[in-house]
Amino acid sequence: MRVGIGHDTHRLGQGGPLRLGGVEIPHDRHLVGHSDADVLLHAITDAMLGAAALGDIGELFPDNDPANRGRDSADMLRRAYERVQQAGYKLVNLDCVVLAQKPKFLPYRDAVRARIAEILGADPSQIGVKAKTGESVGIVGREEAVVAECVALLEPTSK
Ligand code: MG
Repeated sequence: MRVGIGHDTHRLGQGGPLRLGGVEIPHDRHLVGHSDADVLLHAITDAMLGAAALGDIGELFPDNDPANRGRDSADMLRRAYERVQQAGYKLVNLDCVVLAQKPKFLPYRDAVRARIAEILGADPSQIGVKAKTGESVGIVGREEAVVAECVALLEPTSK
């Protein structure tokens, strides 16, 4: 078994929607970044690459490469998982935390879990996602940024 950790931060800008875990959530702010800025999918990508010791998302998809401008993070995650599978591993489960002051995440949680499972060809029962506010302090609490963390467990592919 192999375990990996992922962490990411993206700034919030005016105007929605908020793209999180491959789902567009109605909100008055959006995440800013070179790609589509999906902070949760980026943390998941790094956790899975890390578990297989395959580097990180920035190495695979450099932000100075014009091909990655506005890029769909679901596509990056799918490609990263292909690398992981080529290295001889498959997903056991993910556990993720989204740190966002707003909006309330619970109504969207299962849609996000289903979307992540779809991207990875997994079952939603393998995908844990929960959310915390920033208690109105710090970059999360002041609604300056959204942070995501993820732990991924991989097991060897049986031959
Ligand atoms: Mg990122």
